[in-house]
Amino acid sequence: MEKAAFGSVEDAVACLVGYGVRRGLIPCEEETYASNLLFDVMRYEPAASFVPGATERLDAPLEDVLAYLLDDAVRRGVTEDGIASRDLFDTRLMGCLTPRPGQVISTFWSLFEKSPQLATDYFYRLACDSDYIRTYRVARDRTWVTHTRYGDLDITINLSKPEKDPRAIAAALKRGADSYPRCLLCRESEGYAGRLDYPARQTIRLIPLELAGERWFMQYSPYVYYNEHCIVLSERHAPMRIDRMTFERLLEFVGMFPHYTIGSNADLPIVGGSILTHEHYQGGRYTFAMARADVRRKIEMPGFDDVDAGSWSGPCRS
Ligand SMILES: [Zn+2]
Repeated sequence: MEKAAFGSVEDAVACLVGYGVRRGLIPCEEETYASNLLFDVMRYEPAASFVPGATERLDAPLEDVLAYLLDDAVRRGVTEDGIASRDLFDTRLMGCLTPRPGQVISTFWSLFEKSPQLATDYFYRLACDSDYIRTYRVARDRTWVTHTRYGDLDITINLSKPEKDPRAIAAALKRGADSYPRCLLCRESEGYAGRLDYPARQTIRLIPLELAGERWFMQYSPYVYYNEHCIVLSERHAPMRIDRMTFERLLEFVGMFPHYTIGSNADLPIVGGSILTHEHYQGGRYTFAMARADVRRKIEMPGFDDVDAGSWSGPCRS
């Protein structure tokens, strides 16, 4: 359904560009450039009277602006209808407003020099403003804390992951394991246009990190299971594996970002992560119920008396 706020594609593009400027995604010097990129994606010839940046009075929620442009593109046959196709298309639109990866990386590290928190604040805000994290969808999630005899437990019902498009499921069946990018966590996804069975990634940004002498990357999860939910992934498409190096990397990460937590959701099927084919960890700015709970059994490590360690579950395996 069309939103009443816009009379034309020109209005909606001007509104989207105004949003990009207000959120600091693009400087106002890029209004013309960004408008033209958006018209190109829309395959739309603007009217001769169109003046980039002249319609700042238009202000509407991002979701409504994108919905107007999507409806128009579907009506003119520029893109197909359906949630997967629409998500591919609006990500392409937002990619026109998202700062280039090199720009993001250099801003991140110059803020990091002042404070790691300033750097992650910037990076997380960018992920939300660029619509990589679809905040209006994440807002539908239900989250609450429940009191149990084991302590307070966080419960989240994730309602923001899009339902799978049946055509996307069919496409996934036909495609072998050798597709590019090899998985959702491969760094090759950065800028990838996506396909029905793989999300568009023009708006994802990754920060390269060195952990335990290896190249890793930090990105945010588009689904935000908890505050500032980030994923730290290996540059290599190699299976998850918990070993001594895991701890070295995790400890180096919290040394760099003391206001973040990080952990592995295990290299085990069923109880572990949903993508075991690519080594990665889950981090973020959140104190989990497990960290708030009392320690059941303290673990002593002779020679490391400044380390507090404990176990929350049964007897420790040695
Ligand atoms: Zn991978």
